[in-house]
Amino acid sequence: MTIGVLAVQGNFREHAAMLRRLGAEVVEVRLPEELDGLDGLVIPGGESTAIGRLIRLYGLEEAIRRFRGALFGTCAGMILLDRNHLGLVDLEVDRNAYGRQVASFETDLELGDGEPLRGVFIRAPRVREAGPDVEVLAEHAGEPVLLRQGRFLIASFHPELTDDTRVHERFLELVREETNVGT
Ligand code: GLN
Repeated sequence: MTIGVLAVQGNFREHAAMLRRLGAEVVEVRLPEELDGLDGLVIPGGESTAIGRLIRLYGLEEAIRRFRGALFGTCAGMILLDRNHLGLVDLEVDRNAYGRQVASFETDLELGDGEPLRGVFIRAPRVREAGPDVEVLAEHAGEPVLLRQGRFLIASFHPELTDDTRVHERFLELVREETNVGT
């Protein structure tokens, strides 16, 4: 399985390391043609305005819109996938939406398997509105923080910054499901 990690800014190295640990072949993506042949793509956290500008500059914006594989967006990546940016996921997201006092925090999240997952939130976005096809996989304080819509997995926190590989494993499962469709 070959997974691309968008590598223009932000936490791409940490995602790449975690995916390699799970046995995936990882490609750092900085050019549109580097998306060819990938089974999945990660858009990491970082600074959404910077990543947004750079992908436009490198011609990656359109290439990502055309990409048909599974996509995993974390934090800034969640912002970029929403209705107001790439328009790929039916979400309305507010940037930096946790007040100053709690701008960054860690908390235990429940994934439904009884084992808490440490969620690292760094100036995290918040879901304002989710369309009917969006499924909530985990919540914090009654708000969705891990979501799925078809071939898209979206987290408002940073699963690449802990040792817990479960969210990345979930993404690789999604990639597997997607690559089996139609084969
Ligand atoms: N606050 C950042 C933004 O608006 C996202 C933070 C992150 O990715 N850790 O892009």
